[in-house]
Amino acid sequence: MLNRTHNPHSARVAQVPAAPRRRPGARGVSPAAPIAARVGSGVHALVRGDDNARLFDYEQRVRSAFDAIVPALKRISALQHEEDFETRAQRVARERLGFELPGWILADAWVEQLDLRRLYAWCVFETYLRFSDDFFSADPLGSAEEAEFQAFLQDCGFHILDISPCADGRLAHVIRYVLRLPYRMVRRKSYAGALFDIEDSLAKWGETELLRFREGTPNTADAPTRYLKAVVYHYSSSAPDTEGCAAHGSDAVRAAEAGCERLLAFQQAVENSYCCGASIDLLLIGLDTDTDAIRLHLPDGAGGIEPGTWVDAAQLYDETRGLPAVEAAERIDARLREAAPEAPAGMLRLLARLLENNLSQIEYVQRHHGGRYPDIGHAERFIGAGKGFEEVQLRNLTYFAYLDTVEEAAPDLDVGVKIFSRLNVGHGLPIPVVVRFDYHGQVPGARERAVAHCRRVAGALAARYPELAGRGLLHSLQLVRDIDAGGVGGRVEVLDCSVREPAQEAH
Ligand SMILES: [Zn+2]
Repeated sequence: MLNRTHNPHSARVAQVPAAPRRRPGARGVSPAAPIAARVGSGVHALVRGDDNARLFDYEQRVRSAFDAIVPALKRISALQHEEDFETRAQRVARERLGFELPGWILADAWVEQLDLRRLYAWCVFETYLRFSDDFFSADPLGSAEEAEFQAFLQDCGFHILDISPCADGRLAHVIRYVLRLPYRMVRRKSYAGALFDIEDSLAKWGETELLRFREGTPNTADAPTRYLKAVVYHYSSSAPDTEGCAAHGSDAVRAAEAGCERLLAFQQAVENSYCCGASIDLLLIGLDTDTDAIRLHLPDGAGGIEPGTWVDAAQLYDETRGLPAVEAAERIDARLREAAPEAPAGMLRLLARLLENNLSQIEYVQRHHGGRYPDIGHAERFIGAGKGFEEVQLRNLTYFAYLDTVEEAAPDLDVGVKIFSRLNVGHGLPIPVVVRFDYHGQVPGARERAVAHCRRVAGALAARYPELAGRGLLHSLQLVRDIDAGGVGGRVEVLDCSVREPAQEAH
């Protein structure tokens, strides 16, 4: 079992130096680089090179940790009939993976075949735990701009930004990377096809308004700000018919329309459930998962959305590339005003910021991934089932299946298992599933309920896919996490793992 108390290498995980603070009024220009020197070198004046360098360093670090597993295990497998196998295997593991392997998996390798499936699942889980611990203790994606963003949001007329992207792993980085928002300041809840649960959002709306009323957080209930609900659907510009959203048959028009319908239904739900002019504002965002460029659908004067028209960030990038920062920003503002002359000024300011932020991500993909990701399709490393996963802010790392019970999320899970049957099982590798339930530690009994949930879902998972589980091709790691505990105390807690020492299996 993965042992949290013996983690000798976790301290070695390199900390990324904090990015320099953004100068107020600098409109997103990196203070380190003068504008004149950047224009002409192919770098857009509004792009934040410092943020890009920091985000790329983090992405590389996490991705290479997962990518090292298979080559390391191949090397270890080749050594298994050598005399000093265990010593040599541990050396390979230390050098290539940064941690040691459980001795009991290696112990009998010279009599029996090394169980590479178990070893692979164990390594994925261990790598995930290290990545997760690093996130909660070192805050590698933290942003100094949280307070500034909250003030800006309120200035634009909103007290919360609640975003529901599709659960597809290619959208997992949408908050911190694609939109460049401080992830703690934005609510993210993913659903297959971005078809969010209206009752869940209604409950969140009620909770948000109650906090304003009772505690004045983030502002008092009499402030004239609104709840902003956004949906992010997606499509693929390189392979529109096959690599778009699976939940909408890879049809971008259908995905946009479905997102729009769901948003309007939620708005209606708020208006019908709470009187006195209660309403919300809506935002529909499309994401090209090949390039990370967004398109923003513009609000009309009546508070609705036009699914058929949008402003495209990739187009704006090309159009404003080479312009000084101030002129580029003015061009973006002008495009937005032309496209939505009746939209409130605050909404347009927010949209302008999202577009400007996205220019950095467009350039990030150009510079570090050749303009189009090499993995335009699925390439997730594990399935995340349950509730939580705040630390997963990277593209194509996790396939999400948010659920309370396996039965309720069966279609989402089946899609995930199908994807991993191709990615992993097809190559003889098991499907690693991290079952996780976050809870509020201040609520009495919340941990016990989270633990019970976790055990039930892990059990139901093995029961739903008995053939895979029986052949050692489905492994699970069970975790809970106290959301209310900050910093190191807020790290995940390991309950159980299907890869465990045979002696423990009797329990
Ligand atoms: Zn999707």
